[in-house]
Amino acid sequence: MRLTLLGTGTCYPTMKRAPACYFLSIGPLRLVIDPGPGAVARIAQAGLDPFGVEAIFISHHHPDHCADLVPFLFSYKNCVSSGSRRDIRIFAPKGFTQVFDHLTAAFGQWIMDDDYSVLIDEMRQDKWEIAGLKVRSAPMLHGANAVGYRFEQDGGPVLAYSGDTGPCDELAELASGADALLVECSFPDGEGMEGHMQPSQVARAGIRSGVKKLILTHFYPSVDTDRVGDIVASAGYEGEIIIGHDGMSVTL
Ligand SMILES: [Zn+2]
Ligand SMILES: [Zn+2]
Repeated sequence: MRLTLLGTGTCYPTMKRAPACYFLSIGPLRLVIDPGPGAVARIAQAGLDPFGVEAIFISHHHPDHCADLVPFLFSYKNCVSSGSRRDIRIFAPKGFTQVFDHLTAAFGQWIMDDDYSVLIDEMRQDKWEIAGLKVRSAPMLHGANAVGYRFEQDGGPVLAYSGDTGPCDELAELASGADALLVECSFPDGEGMEGHMQPSQVARAGIRSGVKKLILTHFYPSVDTDRVGDIVASAGYEGEIIIGHDGMSVTL
């Protein structure tokens, strides 16, 4: 299982960190997680194929996590030959079908065509199985019906992803015993807003869930990313801590 981080930032505009975007390769399976603004170009820049993916997973419909869906479909329609096109599967939280209906009402024929459909699987706390990979979601503490995901390869590693969330029991449960938790760390301790995490809260989530490895992401600029790992460790988390940056790949 190979996780490539292509957007470790937020809505805050900076060249250093793009909004959310992750690419997961598991054997022959390719998945996009959270196609935030610029995702299609960043996937291509990384030498990966944005259109060869089995499914797209969306944690919630804040634009920094899904706004590249329209550019994705526009490129799909215009850059992929009609013979190679197939249906596009999207897993998303409750309410996303309605969001997508609004997008198709606005962009219609520019993003859709007769030879493919967009299949949206909209559920919470449910399990899916795609080509031997088990995926589970759980509601997070963030609003916008946000969910986190747990990707479990048959006989292989387990990756959990927080999406955006504040500290919650569901996150600890979702990530329980995982090989890695890709976890948001939006603000420094003592700063920030509800529905996001700070380093000491990330440490607690890591301790509670017993994950082997934390991969930190979703940094606002006020997080000192040179020091954040030390802060998480000094808050008591004893596993490996990886500070995510755009373009980084982690093999599990
Ligand atoms: Zn976000
Ligand atoms: Zn959000």
